[in-house]
Amino acid sequence: MVEGELKQMKRLLDSPKKIVIVPHKNPDGDALGASLALFLFLKAKDHKVNVVSPNDYPEFLKWLPGESEIIKFDQDNEKGKMLLSEAELIFTLDFNDFSRTGEMEKFLQKSSAEFVMIDHHQQPSNYARFTESDTAMSSTSEMIYNFLEQLDQLSAVTPEMATCLYTGIMTDTGSFRFPSTSSQTHKVIAFLMERGAKNAEIYQQVYDTNSLDSLHLLGVALMNIRVLKEYRAAYISLSQEELDAHNYKKGDTEGFVNYILSLKNIIFAVIFIENKQEGIIKMSLRSKGDFDVNRIARKYYHGGGHRNAAGGKSLDNMEKTIKKFVNMLSEYENELL
Ligand code: 5GP
Ligand code: MN
Repeated sequence: MVEGELKQMKRLLDSPKKIVIVPHKNPDGDALGASLALFLFLKAKDHKVNVVSPNDYPEFLKWLPGESEIIKFDQDNEKGKMLLSEAELIFTLDFNDFSRTGEMEKFLQKSSAEFVMIDHHQQPSNYARFTESDTAMSSTSEMIYNFLEQLDQLSAVTPEMATCLYTGIMTDTGSFRFPSTSSQTHKVIAFLMERGAKNAEIYQQVYDTNSLDSLHLLGVALMNIRVLKEYRAAYISLSQEELDAHNYKKGDTEGFVNYILSLKNIIFAVIFIENKQEGIIKMSLRSKGDFDVNRIARKYYHGGGHRNAAGGKSLDNMEKTIKKFVNMLSEYENELL
């Protein structure tokens, strides 16, 4: 944030305000970790603040400090709408386009609040009075740390806030192994541990949460891997029947796509997950190195994300989706061969 903006922001936060914090739809550890840390900070500063999530999120995030106070827009619609219409300041975290909030989109558009965007995805939209957008950052949670530092408020970081930010950074960096993890990221992590984030406990809360069903579903997914050796690509498909057979719950397929990238000589990985209720195939795309999956998610799959991790959806059935996907690969032949 440049000098002038920072001054304005400090002035805005100087007196109690009505504030709403919004993570993206299907929020992940980073979106919720960043939102809750900021929520706890602003609450302690006597603002009237709420986190309004577009919808629900996986069980493995339902222990985060402050989580029980989150309002889910799809379940508590009237309250959510009221908070959005009354808000003076709205922070949008871990996304950069209103369309990432589903049904909330039109209410955000209508709002007369000042917007603050803090995000690390590509190609930000232009809706915010304050835009903090940096694709080089490991996570939005690391950016919240930077935001607090700019406000001279690192001394206000409690063990609960540290736990939220640690969770966000850990989940978005694949436990500190993705290329976006910088030496600065590790310094922030060290600070958060000093402030009370318990690394081993947090890891267990997030990752050691499998049910027998979800491990069996992983087994099915791994058996379903198909390799397109000539393109250094591989994919997994999971049908609604396969999900149902293992009592699929939100979050059960988290991380499955990453197993594909552990295959030697594979640099492009995709998982196709059928959602009969929504009539879509939800997709997660991953890559290694320079191969940019964000542009593919944008061009073909109504989505987006980062160079090495993006998401989107297909409106075709599974068979057609996969057929089109395989055909599409030839377009990127010179990058994949
Ligand atoms: P995931 O595959 O884990 O759901 O998401 C990977 C990355 O892509 C995340 O940074 C996420 O925010 C982004 N992403 C996932 N789904 C979508 C989508 O439908 N639209 C956009 N723009 N980004 C997405
Ligand atoms: Mn993120």
